[in-house]
Amino acid sequence: MTLSAYESTNQFIQQAMVRLKLDAYYTTLLTTPSREIRVELSIELDNGTVGNFIGYRVQHDDSRGPFKGGLRYHPEVEIDEVRSLASLMTWKTAVADVPFGGAKGGIQVDPSMLSRWELERLTRRFVDQLGSTIGPNEDIPAPDMNTNAQVMAWIFDQYSKRNGFSPAVVTGKPLALHGSLGREAATGRGCYFAIREVLKAAGRDFTQQRFAIQGFGNVGSWFAKFVSAAGGKVVAVSDAYGGVQNAQGIDIPALLAHHKVTGQVVNGAGTQPISNEELLVSDCDVLVPAALGHVIDDKNAGQIRARYVLEAANGPVTFEADRILTQRSIVCLPDIWVNGGGVTVSYFEWVQNTQNFKWTEEKVNAELETRIVDAYRAICDMQTELKCNMRTAAFALGVSRVKAATDARGLG
Ligand code: NAD
Repeated sequence: MTLSAYESTNQFIQQAMVRLKLDAYYTTLLTTPSREIRVELSIELDNGTVGNFIGYRVQHDDSRGPFKGGLRYHPEVEIDEVRSLASLMTWKTAVADVPFGGAKGGIQVDPSMLSRWELERLTRRFVDQLGSTIGPNEDIPAPDMNTNAQVMAWIFDQYSKRNGFSPAVVTGKPLALHGSLGREAATGRGCYFAIREVLKAAGRDFTQQRFAIQGFGNVGSWFAKFVSAAGGKVVAVSDAYGGVQNAQGIDIPALLAHHKVTGQVVNGAGTQPISNEELLVSDCDVLVPAALGHVIDDKNAGQIRARYVLEAANGPVTFEADRILTQRSIVCLPDIWVNGGGVTVSYFEWVQNTQNFKWTEEKVNAELETRIVDAYRAICDMQTELKCNMRTAAFALGVSRVKAATDARGLG
């Protein structure tokens, strides 16, 4: 039986709870979302007809701070996956030790089918429908798949119309609207710090590692840039249109330039084609899913050839696949640790907005590095204590921090 995304995430939580020997009543408390919002969004399209869309916001837990998490615009957005992603945010903010809870949202839409004005109207309608359920101390959205700084700017503007100038209501904003320096690159940079630490601890030379990266959007492209700048070899890259490979190493600056012009990696100079399915089982040392969830499942986990799987995307490995990878001694660097760079710098952005103060990019990057490295040490300590894999240790770390806050606040 294949588990849904939410069930899969809950199995990971359950596994950690068993290791921590938590009472069963915590299961419902820590796995059930605090609030689920579903809204109908009807907007006038440019051709004069009406478009109807469904939007979701799932607020999972706010015991450690306001709900926090991205907004995704994708035709496959549905409630089960949003629940799973909201829950992952709770554990991610706890592992990164930033004072937020977890949430996620999205609109079921293919944004490439809408004009800029339609997208703006849709975003503003979503903000109106969410009303006071979002806010600087309530719930703070951020970018995710197919949303960017411009979308965040519309959210900020629409919210501020009713509530006064409120930059801290959303993160990932443009610099002109008090976004943070370093935010755009933060998730890819954090992933780079994470794998660098793991390789260092294993005594492996970074420059000898071959990376295969699925997804060349915000996270995948920045990660590829950091890997190539540090001397690592990127041997395969893909996006929604297909993939490219070169066993000798892809020229990443050239691929970035090609991607900027064509909007895809396919036909990048000096590369041969590879499909997304082939990339996942290709010959590499570090496999980096940086696009969709559940791409590594019980069907392909047995064929993965990498030594490490770096979860740049959210939930790329199913619960069943995780078991197979663990049995095969393939080390998974869990999403709730490695891709926490985005929410960490979002936190720095929120801090700057609430204090009306700007940090330098050097300070942002240095603080980010400290958080990723500190979280790694805490996960390693938990791994030693519980004798488990890195994912269970990361969940156990997140669960124990959220539980401590929940206990201290009480249920009254
Ligand atoms: P993005 O929209 O910028 O890029 C997504 C990339 O995935 C694109 O290259 C797209 O072509 C590719 N893609 C889409 N469908 C695909 C398919 N079927 N097969 C292969 N590639 C496909 O999104 P992003 O912000 O880079 O996010 C990527 C992942 O990282 C998501 O899982 C997201 O939740 C996660 N994440 C993002 C951030 C962030 O700060 N942006 C933070 C944490 C986690």
